[in-house]
Amino acid sequence: MEKVLNFIEGEFREPVGVAFLENYNPATGQVYSLVSQSETQDVDMAVVAAKKALPAWKKMNADDRFRILNRIAELIERDLDKLAAAESRDQGKPVWLAKTEMQRAAQNFRFFATAAMQFASESHQTDSRAINYTLRQPVGVVGCISPWNLPLYLFTWKIAPAMAAGNCVIAKPSEFTPFTAYMLGALCNEAGLPAGVLNIVHGLGSGVGQAMVEHPEIKAISFTGGTATGRHIASVAAPMFKKLSLELGGKNANIIFADADLKEAVKTSVRSSFLNQGEICLCGSRVFVEKPVYEKFKAELLEELKQLKTGNPEDDAVRVGAIVSKQHFEKVLSYIILAKEEGGVVLTGGEAVTPAGFEQGWFIAPTVIEGLGWNCRTNQEEIFGPVITLIPFETEDEVLQMANSTAYGLATTLWTGDLKRAHRMAEALETGIVWVNCWLLRDLRTPFGGMKQSGVGREGGWEAMRFFTEPKNVCVAY
Ligand code: NAD
Repeated sequence: MEKVLNFIEGEFREPVGVAFLENYNPATGQVYSLVSQSETQDVDMAVVAAKKALPAWKKMNADDRFRILNRIAELIERDLDKLAAAESRDQGKPVWLAKTEMQRAAQNFRFFATAAMQFASESHQTDSRAINYTLRQPVGVVGCISPWNLPLYLFTWKIAPAMAAGNCVIAKPSEFTPFTAYMLGALCNEAGLPAGVLNIVHGLGSGVGQAMVEHPEIKAISFTGGTATGRHIASVAAPMFKKLSLELGGKNANIIFADADLKEAVKTSVRSSFLNQGEICLCGSRVFVEKPVYEKFKAELLEELKQLKTGNPEDDAVRVGAIVSKQHFEKVLSYIILAKEEGGVVLTGGEAVTPAGFEQGWFIAPTVIEGLGWNCRTNQEEIFGPVITLIPFETEDEVLQMANSTAYGLATTLWTGDLKRAHRMAEALETGIVWVNCWLLRDLRTPFGGMKQSGVGREGGWEAMRFFTEPKNVCVAY
C-alpha cells in the first residue's frame, strides 16, 4: 500500500518511529494508503533542515525566489488532473471541484511570488532630523498547520506567503487529507526549491502538531482548523510569546431580504450551503429569510435541491460528494438528531445516503431544517456539513441581533437590493468578511479571517506578508 512519507531536506523519509496511520477514501470507506505518524524527533529533524536552509533562502534576491515559486505554480497546473483526482480520493469532494481548488493552489504560489517582488517597507521622515525606515525581515523557521476541508488550497495559502517572505517552513497537513501535500514535495524539488526551505511532516495533531507548537525554534505558527484546537494552541504557544495566526470555525449567516434578487439568492444559496458538502468554513448554515418572501424562497430552494445529485465524486454531474471521515459523518448526523430533538422539522434530506457502488461510503443528503429558534444549539454550534436551517425574520434589527448572536464571527452573506441597507448591515455585522449579493467571490489581496472565536489575525495579501515578517524600525539622524 502506498505510503505518505515525510518530506525533509528535499528527501522523502519514513518517520523515525516507523509508525503509520490508515488513510481512508471517504467515498468507499476503504483504507487506500498509509500516512507517516511522525513525532517530536521528526519535527526536530525538520527544524534542523530548515535552519540550515534559512541563511541562503532569506538572502536570495526576490527575483530568484519569484522564479522558483512561480515554477511550482506551473508544475501544479501541469499535474492538475492527477492532483485533483488524489484530492478527491482523499477528501471525498467531487473531482470537478478539486480541479478548481488545484487551480487556486497554483494561484496562491503565483500571487505570493509576485508579492515577494512588490513587498516594500515604509519610511517616515521625522521633522527635519531623521529618517525612519522599516526593515521587514523573515521571522525565521515557521510552522503551518492546515485542516482537511480544502487540503492543498489551504496548505498552499500558508506556505506560499511564508516562503515568499523568506522563511523556511515546517508544514503539517491534516492527517485525514495528507496526499496532495505529499505530492507537492516532488514538485518543489522539480521546481528547484532548495532543500530544507519546505519540510512536510505528517501525523496526528496531538503528536506532530503539538510538537511543532511546542518547538522553541519554530517562531510562528499559522493555523487553520477548529476553535477548540486554536484555543489549545494559543495556550501552549503563549508562554513562548510565539507569533500566532489563527483561522478558526464559523457559524455563518446567509441573510435574504425581501427586496433581494430572489432567483440569484436561491441559486447562490444552494452553493453557499452545500458546496464541498458544506465543509467550507465560509458556508452559510443559518439562512435568515425576511417573512414576506420566506415561503417563496423555501419553495424555490427545495425545488433547486431536487437537482443536487449526491454520490460518486468522479461523476461530473454530482454536486455533493462524501463526508471526509467516519467520525465527522457521525458528528454531522448527530446534529440532525439534535435538531429534531430541539423541535426542528426536516424539509429535505436528514439522513445518510448510499449511492449505488458506494455502499460503504460516508454520504449525507443535503439537509434543510426549519422551525428552530435562533438560540438553540443547532443554530449556535458549528456543524460543518450539508445541513442548513431556515429562520424567518421581520426587521433589520432583529436579524442583525440573531446573526451576531453566536460565539463565531467569520463571514456573512447579505442579499438585498437596497445599497444603503447593505452598507448599514456590513458596518454592524460582527464578522471579518461580509459578502453583498455574492458568495465566495475571492480577491487574494483582501484580508481574510474572522473575529470573536473565529480567529485572531488575518491572512491574504499584505496581511500574510506582514505576519511572516518582523518589522524592525531603523532611525537614522541627519
Ligand atoms: P482541527 O482543529 O481538528 O485540525 C486542524 C489541524 O490541526 C490538523 O492538521 C490537525 O492535525 C491539527 N491539530 C490538531 N490538534 C493539534 C494540536 N494539539 N496541536 C497542533 N495541531 C493540531 O480542524 P479540522 O477538523 O481539520 O478542520 C475543520 C475546522 O477548520 C472547522 O472548525 C472549520 O471551520 C475550520 N476552518 C476554518 C477556516 C478559516 O479560514 N477560518 C478554514 C477552513 C477550516
